[in-house]
Amino acid sequence: MEKKTMKALVYHGPNQFSLDDVPVPRILKPTDAIGRVTLSAICTSDVHIVHGDIKNVITPKILGHEFCVEIVEIGSAVTGLQPGDRAHVLPGTFCGECAYCKMGVNILCKNDDSGCFGANGPDGCQAEYIRIPLASDFCIKIPEGLKEEDVILLGDMLATAWFGVKNARVREGQSVAVIGVGPVGLCACLLAKKVFGAKQVIAIDILQYRVELALTEGIADVGINPHTEDLRSKIMQATGGGVDAIIETVGISETLNMAFAFTKPGGIVSTVAIFAEPVELPMQEIVYKNLEFRSGIQSCEGVAEMLQMIQDGKISTKFMQTHRAPLNAISKGYDIFGNKKEGCVKWLVTPYEE
Ligand SMILES: [Zn+2]
Ligand SMILES: [Zn+2]
Repeated sequence: MEKKTMKALVYHGPNQFSLDDVPVPRILKPTDAIGRVTLSAICTSDVHIVHGDIKNVITPKILGHEFCVEIVEIGSAVTGLQPGDRAHVLPGTFCGECAYCKMGVNILCKNDDSGCFGANGPDGCQAEYIRIPLASDFCIKIPEGLKEEDVILLGDMLATAWFGVKNARVREGQSVAVIGVGPVGLCACLLAKKVFGAKQVIAIDILQYRVELALTEGIADVGINPHTEDLRSKIMQATGGGVDAIIETVGISETLNMAFAFTKPGGIVSTVAIFAEPVELPMQEIVYKNLEFRSGIQSCEGVAEMLQMIQDGKISTKFMQTHRAPLNAISKGYDIFGNKKEGCVKWLVTPYEE
């Protein structure tokens, strides 16, 4: 590659991040590929990182883990990928062979190069180019006929929602509530309604525009803003005694307590949040109502199925892609998306413009 330096959003420490000139990444191992980032997105976790809420990030680190690339170079051991291929890359890598990977907790994989891009793993995608370790395993070729926008939210937003909805064991005919309808919560509404056959989906958020988006998209039947409406009476009225399962995406005591309070006896509370602080659990409510509580970090289950559903036109996440701008304006993106301004649901980043 001719180019020696590139622009990248580098995290230097809490509240210190900037668009810097850094070396263009190179192949370090035979299983690596180099991708030119064609589209990326800012994730809520990125915002938590820059605020210093996620402690295991070694600095300096190029941020970002939701992305698509054009492959520009491959290592000698990469199979199934060629320069010129368009791919969506999963948000993190793991070896698949260590004891943790074999137990299914890939998040604890200690292999070199494992972990989430732009967090506890390799450098991230909010840059012009990225090195992708174990590229054969973690790149999903974008099928003919689909654009980057069609798949950009597959590996993180949709896969996280899939994990949460599966953990909640959502079945046909059930009532399901989603607390916090940001991008993952909206994906959870979408999957619960259109894929897992929930009869009633209740979208709960203190941001009215997000509740309304869920309703106008037809992925929620009831929308509730706890700041302006009486949550308890509205849920009880809608469900006649509580919901079968709740998917919680926020990760604070207030929303978790809400989830346990409004789940029916014998129901499931499933959280997909990454907790920045310890929370208090209402153990009596959990115990006396025989509630099940499930949590964890997704490992991209459901990605192949959902890619097929995107191809078939059964699901789409384009309605939540409210903003897009080149890498040049990424700091503005952190402000608008991070502070939930301008009705922003998801901020997409297009390549740097000279
Ligand atoms: Zn993420
Ligand atoms: Zn491993």
